[in-house]
Amino acid sequence: MENCLFCKIVKGEIPSAKVWEDEQVYAFKDINPQAPFHVLVVPKKHVASVAEIGMLEDSEIAAILRAVSNIAAEASLPGGFRVISNCGPDACQSVPHLHFHILGGCQMADRMA
Ligand code: 5GP
Ligand code: ZN
Repeated sequence: MENCLFCKIVKGEIPSAKVWEDEQVYAFKDINPQAPFHVLVVPKKHVASVAEIGMLEDSEIAAILRAVSNIAAEASLPGGFRVISNCGPDACQSVPHLHFHILGGCQMADRMA
């Protein structure tokens, strides 16, 4: 996808702090972390958001969640962590390439919105 920020990060055209890569998934540190641990997990194939997840193969969807679990395990977050995917303007999605935020390393607010 031309002019997609996260496609460019996946291709290495824009630098990122990689924390995970496999055949289908790439993960990197968020440039503006909202918690001590803040990583973005994206499919290498471009889809805009969870609303378009049906355009991915089941194996790609599974690979994303397996990567989330493996990254969190490697990070050693004994207090747990939060996984968020903003979808569309009401959720303030700012980059239209599907991504899951992993946030951890601190006590988070007891609310979702
Ligand atoms: P959204 O608001 O779409 O849920 O999340 C997009 C995230 O991408 C934000 O947390 C933002 O800080 C992060 N982000 C935006 N541009 C870049 C960038 O160039 N590099 C990295 N590593 N993260 C970025
Ligand atoms: Zn993209």
